[in-house]
Amino acid sequence: MLSFASLKVWEKPEIKRNLWWYYEVANNRKPAKYLICRRIPAEINPTKAEENTLWDMHEKLSKEFQGLFNKIAEDKLSLKELPIAKPNFLDIKVELAKRMLKHCNFCRWNCRVDRTLGTKHGTCQLESESRVSSYFHHRGEELPIRGTGGSGTIFFTSCNMRCAFCQNGDISHDKYNGVIFTPYMVALAMWQLRLEGCHNINLVGGEPTIHLHTIVEAISLLRFFDDRKTLPQIMIAKADGFLPYRMNKGNALYHDEFNTPILWNSNMFMSRETLTILREIVDIWLPDFKFGNNKCAVRLSRTPWYFETVSDNHRTIYEWGENIVIRHLVMPNHVECCTKPVLRWIAENMPGVPVNVMDQYHPDCACNPNDPNYDPRYSDMARYPTRDEVLEAYRYAQELGIPFEEITFERSVYGYNV
Ligand code: SF4
Repeated sequence: MLSFASLKVWEKPEIKRNLWWYYEVANNRKPAKYLICRRIPAEINPTKAEENTLWDMHEKLSKEFQGLFNKIAEDKLSLKELPIAKPNFLDIKVELAKRMLKHCNFCRWNCRVDRTLGTKHGTCQLESESRVSSYFHHRGEELPIRGTGGSGTIFFTSCNMRCAFCQNGDISHDKYNGVIFTPYMVALAMWQLRLEGCHNINLVGGEPTIHLHTIVEAISLLRFFDDRKTLPQIMIAKADGFLPYRMNKGNALYHDEFNTPILWNSNMFMSRETLTILREIVDIWLPDFKFGNNKCAVRLSRTPWYFETVSDNHRTIYEWGENIVIRHLVMPNHVECCTKPVLRWIAENMPGVPVNVMDQYHPDCACNPNDPNYDPRYSDMARYPTRDEVLEAYRYAQELGIPFEEITFERSVYGYNV
C-alpha cells in the first residue's frame, strides 16, 4: 500500500507550496505548533491575571512564537533544545478561552452571554458543555487530508450558522446530539485517532469555533496517554469503532512526544479574538466560503455580516502565511450571485491558494421536499446543481487562474471538459 508521504499529490507544486508545514508535521518531520507553544514561558499566573493582561501577554508570546517557528521551519533550531515551560503560551490560550466563555465572543454574533451560567443562550444555544456527535477516520476528505489512513475527524454538535440546506443537519441543528465530552475525553480521542494512523486531527461540526474552550484545553492536554479505562467511555461516539485499527505509537512520534497536525474545518464566522488564539495551534486550515453576498447569507443561513466577516478572516490567515485549502460548495441557482463573487474574491485576495470547488450539494433539511422540515420558500434550492452550473463554476475558476483542479477533480462526478 502507498504511504501518505509517497502520494503523487505531494508532487504537485501548488499542493506542496501551500501545504508544506502540514505535510512535515503529518509525517512527524516537524513538531505541531502546539508543541512549540509549550516551550514558550508565560511570565504571569494565567488564572490570576486580568483578561487585558492575558491579551497583552498573548501578543508578546505570539511574537516569540513566530521567531521560534521560523527557526524550526528552517531547521535552524530543534525542539530538543527548548525545555517545556510552565506556565506556557498554551496555558494563556486556555485561560483566555475560559474568560471569553463568560461573555461569549467566540464568533461574530458576539452574544456576550455567560455560557458558564446557562441562564441565557446565544445564537448557538450552547452552554459550557461540549458534545461530540461522532469521531472516526474520515475517508471522504480531500486527498492530502484523508491520505491513506483517513483524517481523524471529530464532529462537534451545534452551529453558529443556520443554513437551510445544511448537509449535516442532525449534528448542527440538534444541540443534544452526541455525547458530552470533557477536554480530557477530546484529547483522548485525538490520541486514539492519531495512533490508529490518521494523518491529522480534523476539528469540525456543526462548527468547532463554538467549542473553542474545550478544544484549546484538549490540545493543551495532548500527550501519549496510558488510559485504557476511559477509552470505552469515549468509544460510544466512535463511528468506526467496529474496525480493528491497531494503535501504534510510531504514528505520532516526534522526539519522544505526541505529535499531530491540528486541522480547523470551519465556516470562518469567528471573532478576531478566536482567530488570534487559533493562530499558533492550527497547522492547516480548511475554511468554507459559501456566500458571495450578505443577502444570500441572510436568506439561506440567517447570518448577517457574513461576507465581511468571512472574507476578513480568510484574508488574515492568508496574510499570516498559513497552510490553507478553501472549500466552496456550488449551490443551485447561486453560481452568479455566490460562486463567481467568492471565486473572484479568492483570486484577487488569496492568489495561489487551492480551492475545492465542490459539486456535491444535495437538497437537505429545509430545502429537501421529502424532509418534514421542508420550507417551500427554499424551493429554488430543492434540486441538485445542474451539470452546466458546475461546469460554469469550473470554467470560471480556471479563467481566474485558481489552482483547483488537483484538489477538486479526484472525486468530481463531472468530467472536466470546459
Ligand atoms: S459561540 Fe457565537 S453564537 Fe454561540 S454564544 Fe458565543 S458568540 Fe454567540
